[in-house]
Amino acid sequence: MLNFKMTPKKAYIHTFGCQMNMHDSEKMAGILLNEGYTLTDAPQDADIIVFNTCSIRQKAEQKFRSELGRTKSLKKEKPFLRIAVAGCIAQQQGRGIIKNNPQVDYVFGPQNLQRLGDMIRAGGPGVLTGDIPVGDSTLREISDSDLPVLRKDAIRAWVSIMYGCNNFCSYCVVPYTRGREKSRPAGSIYEEIRKLASAGFKEVTLLGQNVNSYKSEIGFGGLLRQIDAIEGIERIRFVTSHPRDFSEDLIECIKELPKVCEHIHLPLQSGSSRILKGMNRGYTYEDYMRKADKLIKKIPGIAITTDIITGFPSETVDDHASTMMALRAVEFDGIFAFKFSSRPGTKAAVMDEKVPDSVKSQRLAEILELQDEITLKKNKALEGTMQEVLIEGASKTDKGKITGRTRTNKIVNFSGNKVSPGQIADVSIVKAMRHSLVGIDSQREEELMFKDKDFR
Ligand code: SF4
Repeated sequence: MLNFKMTPKKAYIHTFGCQMNMHDSEKMAGILLNEGYTLTDAPQDADIIVFNTCSIRQKAEQKFRSELGRTKSLKKEKPFLRIAVAGCIAQQQGRGIIKNNPQVDYVFGPQNLQRLGDMIRAGGPGVLTGDIPVGDSTLREISDSDLPVLRKDAIRAWVSIMYGCNNFCSYCVVPYTRGREKSRPAGSIYEEIRKLASAGFKEVTLLGQNVNSYKSEIGFGGLLRQIDAIEGIERIRFVTSHPRDFSEDLIECIKELPKVCEHIHLPLQSGSSRILKGMNRGYTYEDYMRKADKLIKKIPGIAITTDIITGFPSETVDDHASTMMALRAVEFDGIFAFKFSSRPGTKAAVMDEKVPDSVKSQRLAEILELQDEITLKKNKALEGTMQEVLIEGASKTDKGKITGRTRTNKIVNFSGNKVSPGQIADVSIVKAMRHSLVGIDSQREEELMFKDKDFR
């Protein structure tokens, strides 16, 4: 008789894509823990492998497909191995995934991740996506308060405040994969964050595709004000904001609420109003600049980061020049820039005048080179300043140093031995680099002023 090792059961989760997906993986990890699994970093040791997929760009999809391909031989060696495909590709392709990859047991979309435990207990195979329900599955509203979550970090936590998106940007699959926008009740969010504070978490990042269109009886500003009053939480961040919905009230919240950090991720996508129209973004370059200008004037020192897509269909040399001009005008603290990636089912996928890949690559390189200069310049301006740093732990890149982040979300590595994760330290910035800052060394400890904000 074959004697397969069944206990302790191990789960391997491979996450592709955005913070929304990473947080969804934390929820899946919590569910798997409840089902008796422990997490492993080695897929070959796993009893279940979960791929939490992303379809926002072709590259992420290709990467997933090659990882999935490797599981064929694993399944042959270990027939009891269960393979699950979750996330946006699962939602889009449903049963097709099992048809083309018979080693896959379960497929479920982002709105059905709470059913992972049910699927495992029911055996396999199963498909649960928004538009391809199986058996008695009905699309159930996710209530995060009911879900177990295994968080990766003990200091900083992601909290979903809404799901889906109604914007239908012409290049984006999210409204098709994550469904229409749905806000979580404010009370449920407040309760989750109150519990996080009691558990010692210091920072929360509110997650949604378009957080500033959050809808409830108190609105997004009201939600921020409520969370700001929670004892124990020191910092509040939120991502992603849509420039069209970015209101005066939100600027006031960032300015007035002590725990709301002075950092905003505000995706511009292009500096050309013509291209923005083609993208269906709902604002012009001038609208964006007016808002960015207000932010910079009202909140001195605020860090603004953005997303840029280069080579959108019909993008001309002049459109590209407008984007370069926008980078110089706003002086973003950082950008995420990508070549346009045609996604099946979106309006942009069938647009004419595709930009050749070599041109996209050239434009992307120019954008990244310019931004590198700007980021360094902005970081250099912090040399000699004192920054409030929330300590995360030992530095992974700078051995023997402590790492943390400023309120503007910049990484600081510094020496010191009197601090522990979750504390807030005032750190003097002595050197700036493109991707991080260096704080004053512990040899000059007397020059470090620690604010003792230890766990209460
Ligand atoms: S706002 Fe646009 S880019 Fe963002 S998720 Fe919604 S449709 Fe996609």
